[in-house]
Parts: sequence; structure tokens; C-alpha cells
Amino acid sequence: MADRWVDHLLIGGGMAAAACASELRAAGGTGSVLLVGREPDPPYHRPPASKGYLQGRESRESALIELPGDVEVVTRTSAMALDPAAKVAKLSTKEEVEYGTALLATGAMVRRLQVDGAQLEGVHYLRALGNADAIRADAQGADRVVCVGGSYIGCEVAASLTQLGRRCTIVMLEDEPMERGFGRMVGRHVRAVLEAHGIEVVGGAAVERFAGDERVAAVVLGDGRELPAGVVVCGTGAVPDVMLARKSGLEIGELGGVRCDDRLRTAHDGLYAAGDICEHDSVVHGRVVRIEHEEVAAAQGRTVARNMLGADEAHREVPYFWSDLADWATLEYVGPAQTWDEEVVRGAPDDGEFSVWYLHEGRVVAALSAGGHADLDAARGLIAGREPVGAAGVPA
Ligand SMILES: Cc1cc2nc3c(=O)[nH]c(=O)nc-3n(C[C@H](O)[C@H](O)[C@H](O)COP(=O)(O)OP(=O)(O)OC[C@H]3O[C@@H](n4cnc5c(N)ncnc54)[C@H](O)[C@@H]3O)c2cc1C
Repeated sequence: MADRWVDHLLIGGGMAAAACASELRAAGGTGSVLLVGREPDPPYHRPPASKGYLQGRESRESALIELPGDVEVVTRTSAMALDPAAKVAKLSTKEEVEYGTALLATGAMVRRLQVDGAQLEGVHYLRALGNADAIRADAQGADRVVCVGGSYIGCEVAASLTQLGRRCTIVMLEDEPMERGFGRMVGRHVRAVLEAHGIEVVGGAAVERFAGDERVAAVVLGDGRELPAGVVVCGTGAVPDVMLARKSGLEIGELGGVRCDDRLRTAHDGLYAAGDICEHDSVVHGRVVRIEHEEVAAAQGRTVARNMLGADEAHREVPYFWSDLADWATLEYVGPAQTWDEEVVRGAPDDGEFSVWYLHEGRVVAALSAGGHADLDAARGLIAGREPVGAAGVPA
């Protein structure tokens, strides 16, 4: 016999669970909602951790996500076990909670570099607000900061710490920053923005090891080059946190997430997944996707809430993502493209106001907007329509 019953149990204290809680109320649900999260903070927005919060411009309070007052939020508490057949979760408080419906939204963890010196003081990763506090404090005394990884975390952190007066270097496997997601042309644009603000960008380079005694002093590259570093921030990707899901016997998909159908349901009655761990059949893309972006987590959380209340709807929102490089540049993107064979550029890349439309076999599969150039609603329509339009059908 469980210790207590709730109508809706939300496991994981991030954006997906928070959005689900709010939507349960907005959609008219009156049942009890219990949100259980492992972190010391109640649900908060992570994006400021590499942007305004890291720069010290935004407070912790402003990052918090507002929740309906009658949602019960328990922090510093993990779901340790889940029995999907009995519909019971066991919490780290030893309490057993029986639920009517449940959401698994345990998010992602940083991917750690397995190289010599990885344990040295001064080597940081960024996932939570507490990591941002540690990076900001540590970087204060550092002459040089090296950011490992050319994706959005590495680039945003380098931009934020440059604004705080630090000298930053980005080192990455790819030739150009952000090129994996957005292609070479956008990558060159991002490099130009970063370099114009004094950031050194080292592409095509693998980190061999971190050198130093107790504290990191340099990043050593595969070709023997040594980059002096008082602080290192690794933005080397994330892995879905499927520990609880795996232990509970849920199916893990090929993309490493919890396998769900187009309604974000797992194979178990009343049990859903959303956010970074959710690997679902996407009716928008016609393939299985798993996406690590805040607005996607929020939209999926809302779909789950409506389905918990009986809507039985497929998740149809076209994924959206943004990245800010300090106040120098903002990139927005809808997609994501798995692959593309044509890029159509509109606007004026040299002025930083342009869009890139990614086509595959004549269909728009993604669009990127720099400086607010593209009509992203038009892009969403073209992506969701999945009809060939060719370059001529792309808005001017
Ligand atoms: C520094 C940073 C900057 C970002 N910037 C952007 C951006 O600019 N734009 C964008 O679109 N996206 C951005 N993202 C990505 C975005 O924040 C994530 O996609 C989003 O947070 C995913 O939400 P989630 O609810 O799935 O998971 P999470 O936010 O990871 O929340 C999951 C929570 O569940 C908790 N948990 C795990 N296991 C358990 C358990 N067993 N019991 C209880 N709790 C558990 C975790 O501790 C965590 O608090 C950024 C991410 C980071 C780290």
C-alpha cells in the first residue's frame, strides 16, 4: 500500500515538468499535482545560466518559473524507483506515491570529457545555476578562459565571460562554431561575431589533456599546441538522464531517450515522457526525434498535460530554439534538419540580418534567423506542411 495518492505525479523539476503543471491547471484539470525535483531550486529556466545569469545581470529569482499555487513542489528529492505496472513511485524520502498519471521529465546530464587532467580544479561543466555561480566566481581571478566545444554552450559562455572582461578561447573539433547544427555559412558568421569581440576561435582541434598540478593551467591539443587556461568550461554536449527510466524497465530508443509514441506516451498506462529525455514519433518530421531545447520541453510538457486530461492529441509543435551571444547577436532556429542538400540565404549576412532556409529534396526542413530577419511562422508552416516548394517558394 502506497503512503499517498496523487492524480498527477511529475518527476523532474525542469521546464517540461513545470510547463506540464501549469497546463494541467490552464486546461481545467482540478486533480492533485505533485512535482518532485532533485535540485535545491524549484523549476527554473536554464538558458540564463550561460547568458544573463552567468554575466551577473539577471537574478536567481528572475530565472524561476512561475507555477500555479496549488501545485505541490518538492525540491531536493529524487524519484528512486518507479513501478509502472503498479503506478507507484518511491521517493528518496522513502515515501511511496501512487499516481493516476505520471510524467517522466528527468532531463539531461553533461557529457564529460574522458581525458587526463579532467579532475583538475578549474575545469567546469554547466547545467545548473549553481555551476554558473562557480564559473563566474572562478573566472574572476583567471587571466584566460578556454571553452571546450563549439556548440551553443561553448560560444555563449565565451561571449558572456568576455563581457565580464575575461580573455576567452573556444576550441572545438569542428572547423567553425555551431556548424554542426547550422552549416558552414552560419558557422563562419558566428566565428566573425566572436572574433570581432576578441575571442580566439580554434577549430579542427581535439583536446588531448588538461595540464596543471592541482589546478588547470593549460589545455593541450592533439597536435601538441598548449592553450594557457586559468579556467576551462566544457560545453561538450549532454546525455539524456534515463537512469530511472532504464531501472523501471522503460524502453530506451536509438537516440538514447525514453521511447514514446506521437502522443508522448510510453508503453505503460498513464505514463508519459517530455523534454530532453523524450524520444518520440514526430508527426511534424515523419521520423523519431529527441530534442534538447527549452521551448520544446515546454511544448511537450503542455501536450502531456492535455493528454493526461484525456485530449488524446499528437504533439504537433514545430521545434524552436534560440541562442544569444551576449548582446552581440541572436540566432533563432526552427527545425531541426536531420540533413539538407540546399541552403537558401536571404537578407544581408554582412549586416548580421539574414535568414538561411535549409531544403532537402525541395522541402523546407529548417530555417535560421539572424537578427530577427526571417518570418519564423512562415517557416513553421512550410516545415509542418512537408510539401516540396523549392528555393522559389522560400519567402524573400
Ligand atoms: C546552460 C544552458 C543553456 C541553455 N540555453 C538554451 C537556449 O538558449 N535555448 C534553448 O532552447 N535551450 C537551451 N538550453 C536547453 C534547455 O535548458 C533544456 O532543453 C531544458 O532545460 C530541458 O528541460 P527538461 O525539463 O527536459 O530537463 P531539465 O531542465 O534538465 O530538468 C530535469 C530535472 O529533473 C531532475 N531529475 C533527474 N532525475 C530525477 C529523479 N530521479 N527524481 C527527481 N528529479 C530528477 C534533474 O535534476 C533536473 O532538475 C540550455 C541548457 C543549458 C544547460
